[in-house]
Amino acid sequence: MFKGGVKLIDFKSLSKNEEIEEFKYPEKVIIPLIQHTGSPAKPVVKKGDYVLEGQVIGEITGFISSYIHSSISGKVIEIAPWDLPTGRKSLSVIIESDGERKSIEKVKRDWLNLKSEEIINIVKESGIVGLGGAAFPTHVKLTIPEGKRVDFILINGCECEPFLTCDYRVLKEYTEEVIEGIQIICKATNVKKAFIGIEHNKIDLLPQLERSIRNLKISIEIEIKILPAKYPQGSEKHLIKSILNREVPSGGLPIDVNCIVFNVQTTLAIKRAVCDGIPLTERVLTCSGLVKNPKNLKVKIGTLISDILNFCGAELKHGRKIIVGGPMMGIQLFKEDVPVIKGTTGILLLPEEKLPKRIQPCIRCGKCLDVCPMFLLPSEIGKYVELERFDKVENLNVFDCIECGCCAYICPSKRPLVDFIKCAKFKLRKK
Ligand code: SF4
Ligand code: SF4
Repeated sequence: MFKGGVKLIDFKSLSKNEEIEEFKYPEKVIIPLIQHTGSPAKPVVKKGDYVLEGQVIGEITGFISSYIHSSISGKVIEIAPWDLPTGRKSLSVIIESDGERKSIEKVKRDWLNLKSEEIINIVKESGIVGLGGAAFPTHVKLTIPEGKRVDFILINGCECEPFLTCDYRVLKEYTEEVIEGIQIICKATNVKKAFIGIEHNKIDLLPQLERSIRNLKISIEIEIKILPAKYPQGSEKHLIKSILNREVPSGGLPIDVNCIVFNVQTTLAIKRAVCDGIPLTERVLTCSGLVKNPKNLKVKIGTLISDILNFCGAELKHGRKIIVGGPMMGIQLFKEDVPVIKGTTGILLLPEEKLPKRIQPCIRCGKCLDVCPMFLLPSEIGKYVELERFDKVENLNVFDCIECGCCAYICPSKRPLVDFIKCAKFKLRKK
């Protein structure tokens, strides 16, 4: 188990028992060309073009990049910059539906007959990125660099952020497909053992996971690890520590300790792309919090967040805020006409916290140091950022911060420690 972290009230009961519901087919979608880590996709359609559901509309522009597909059939009415839920702006393809739901031809394949490179290529052409929020292109993760070795695949089913239950529902409702996805990942990477990590609050999934694991198609082992419900258990580095007792070095990646981590929805997307010929055009997300009807919804990429909030009965009024993602690491939205992108795990309506008008001083209680799962000194970083002494911050390993928010959550002075850290990273990157 990793050191640090916090125990949180999880609020998952609001939506945990809500079956995945298909959100209505949108009349219009706004599909950004940068939804992933890496370089933006290049548009390959123009205004006036007719597109099918699943058709490529944005092409990869480098090794770390991703294809983008249309999530509906209809006409491209504009290609223009649009705000993203991440706070950035991206050139986006705006498509108006023709209501026909016409799709590209879906090619069924038997993955047992595919070679590793063929699987990785399908994943790449299907635009699959990490669906746990980071949106790192999956074909890059599956490509083992020269001189590196992978011992284990880790499937991240922790979903440690409060309120979010979409991964839980995916594991519950699509168990067989996720297990098939794990086997495909193992085949692509030539790994013989995988672990599924789930937090204790999802222990009810155990019997059905075990049942599905009994019928594997290839000779690999899949072991389920039940982990304590402690935030940020789902962070890659902490999942690796909890399951394998290996520590990813500062500035390193999971591959540096011979493993790769995939989110459960990414695993499902891999299965559907490889076996069913379905590119990534939709995802499951949770809409919860103060909405009247919390739900787990299967949503087309590019659907407006305002439509989803309306559907779930969100009453937007003073003293409430919209968060995209979980409450700990999510981003506050200041406008609702932004689209769902591949990395959108949740949409939450939460009460606005009453923060002090001025930044309060540190009372040197040391609580932030106790909870920091990366063993950083958030209070010191905050102090030097306030003093604009970025030369001092540089020696405090600020780039190791995973922005989990534990320090700010625990701070009795409600100091904006994560904002200080983000500011320090920004300044140091510019140096
Ligand atoms: S310093 Fe970074 S890693 Fe440490 S608790 Fe704060 S946000 Fe999390
Ligand atoms: S938790 Fe807040 S008050 Fe306590 S040491 Fe850290 S920054 Fe200072």
